[in-house]
Amino acid sequence: MHTIGFDIGGTKIAAAVVDASGRELSEARRDTPDTWAETSAALHSALTELLHACPDAAAVGVGIAGLVDRSGYLSYGPNLPGIEHVDVQGELSRLFPLPVVVDNDANVAAYGEAKHGAIRGVDDALVVTLGTGIGGGLIIGGEVYRGGHGFAAEIGHITIDLDGPVCACGERGHWEALASGNALGRMGREAASEGRVPSVLAQAGGVVAAITGHEVGQAAAAGAPDALALIDEYADLVAVGLASLANILDPSVIVISGGIINLGDVLMRPARKHFIARIEAGTERPVPELVAAELGERAGVIGAAALARRSVA
Ligand SMILES: [Zn+2]
Repeated sequence: MHTIGFDIGGTKIAAAVVDASGRELSEARRDTPDTWAETSAALHSALTELLHACPDAAAVGVGIAGLVDRSGYLSYGPNLPGIEHVDVQGELSRLFPLPVVVDNDANVAAYGEAKHGAIRGVDDALVVTLGTGIGGGLIIGGEVYRGGHGFAAEIGHITIDLDGPVCACGERGHWEALASGNALGRMGREAASEGRVPSVLAQAGGVVAAITGHEVGQAAAAGAPDALALIDEYADLVAVGLASLANILDPSVIVISGGIINLGDVLMRPARKHFIARIEAGTERPVPELVAAELGERAGVIGAAALARRSVA
């Protein structure tokens, strides 16, 4: 059976026809418009394009950035300006000729990794995406754990530092304000303005304001000790949150996702070191394995299609 997955992000809509093994057969892309009316029209045109290529698709799954309840209603979408308080599942069910299921983008990506990626066959796992913010998806007993209202695993918004920087959600000291991919860029700019990371500053052409996580990563990948020291500091901030979550959930595996995993062991090695130091009794117990995601940015589309397949199976 073929199904169709949509991944609606802040800037791009990705969609594909996916087969039962998680392979993408045909894909479509659109820019994310500013209003829901334009977005639903863009989704409809992408669906029409995909159904033309693959008329036998049986259902549609949609992952969307924001708080999505159990009925597929989007309550809050800070990364989707103009799209909020929308019954996404209800409206798309009326618009599309196929059954539609809608969930939060991080949940959908976690389901993709569980069905076709890094945690195939793993019953209890946590998927953590380090990007603009920190997204989370929790797999318990092989299924996405959604909580009482559908809003579970908003892991980026656990408080790490009461006096820390203000988060995108308006609260202070949340994990994503300290350990997202964007936070690495802020750490790079701060360290550069204090003269601590000349190699990172050189990557940005000597302009402090031009430093992002990318420049920090490039300098570290080239082996610069100052940049590696900054990555080590950052990896500890990542580990603080991972250890807190692992103490609660005891997952078998934690999957790290997001562009930052391109750094490979430059990030993963210090993250593992700090994680073992931070988790309760890290040397006296089996510690959850930390691994890199396999599906990367395709996890959303592939997971949405897998969710659609599950909904009609
Ligand atoms: Zn927050």
